[in-house]
Amino acid sequence: PLSKLSNVGTTIFSQMTQLANENEAINLSQGFPDFMPDSELMDLVDHFIKKGFNQYAPMGGMIGLKEEIARKIENSHQAIYNPDSEITITAGGTQAIFTAIATFVKKDDEVIIFEPAYDCYEPTVELFGGIVKRFEMKAPDYEIDWNAVKNLVSAQTKMIILNNPNNPSGKILKENDIQELIKIVEKTSILILSDEVYENIIFDGKQHISICKYPELKDRSLLVASFGKLFHVTGWKVGYCAAPKMLTDEFRKIHQFNVFSVNTPIQLALGEYMKNDDHYNSLSQFFQEKRDFLRKGLANTSFELLDCEGTYFQALKYDKISDKNDFEFASELTVNHKVASVPFSSFYKNKLNENVIRLCFAKKQETLERAIENLSKL
Ligand code: GLN
Repeated sequence: PLSKLSNVGTTIFSQMTQLANENEAINLSQGFPDFMPDSELMDLVDHFIKKGFNQYAPMGGMIGLKEEIARKIENSHQAIYNPDSEITITAGGTQAIFTAIATFVKKDDEVIIFEPAYDCYEPTVELFGGIVKRFEMKAPDYEIDWNAVKNLVSAQTKMIILNNPNNPSGKILKENDIQELIKIVEKTSILILSDEVYENIIFDGKQHISICKYPELKDRSLLVASFGKLFHVTGWKVGYCAAPKMLTDEFRKIHQFNVFSVNTPIQLALGEYMKNDDHYNSLSQFFQEKRDFLRKGLANTSFELLDCEGTYFQALKYDKISDKNDFEFASELTVNHKVASVPFSSFYKNKLNENVIRLCFAKKQETLERAIENLSKL
């Protein structure tokens, strides 16, 4: 067959955004801000372009930016990464994830994922001949049963992919989850790919527990993060992968042929902008206000608001409103009520339908107000 991914279509995010545009609906489906990034950051990009930084960056990334990333990780998690040899700048979180999987997953290797799962993990594993083993976290609380996870581990397990905070459920891992994970991987050579792109969007004074905080996990982990989420610039496509030198050396063998290097003036601008910690320390507060505004606006509707501990996504259970499956409901919502969302079943391989949809609240006040008004009519 011609196709290497015959079961894969266009991502749900592109599909729902297209449906939103066709129907002139408010687009709370794909996760991206509809407001401008800080003008200081945009001016910095302009500055570096005009100063003549328009040629290839070093393959692993600009050192100034990597030093700021190392400083941020050390301050937040007391973990040390060598900026030169252990941090690689990537074209967004997704490319880092793709490269990490491409680097380590071989034919018949098993990879454990947690669903609801971001949609790129599984096809990428399959592309390299790996076999996905999945644990389904379920509504309403999306807890992980670590005994069940342990049963998924075999001699073939090469990697565990975590997404913390979890897109789409907004669930964060707790100390207890991390301790259970340590028990599972210690005495094995299982690698961890930890997608922490929403690490700085954590609510109600809770703490993000990064994988790198625990030496027994850090040594086997590839930590992925994204500036798109951190500074409201998803279209710039810049992220990074932090991993011990031994893993980074292998990662870069693939990275150099995949993208080679990433946008030079933007890396310089991000490096400069990151010197001020306030630029990212205020993010949780900023998004908590948006989350609370949306939740308050929907409190009197028949939607059930599931917990949202982090990320910029709110999960809504709608079984008191409709008995349609979540795909049909999300389409109907877009076409008839002009609000686009993402059906949760698209984050599960077996399309588990629990009548839950995802709304993105990384939106202007005015956008959220209009969405609340439309959803209140249901
Ligand atoms: N991460 C974003 C989301 O979950 C979108 C990513 C994408 O469109 N590829 O909506």
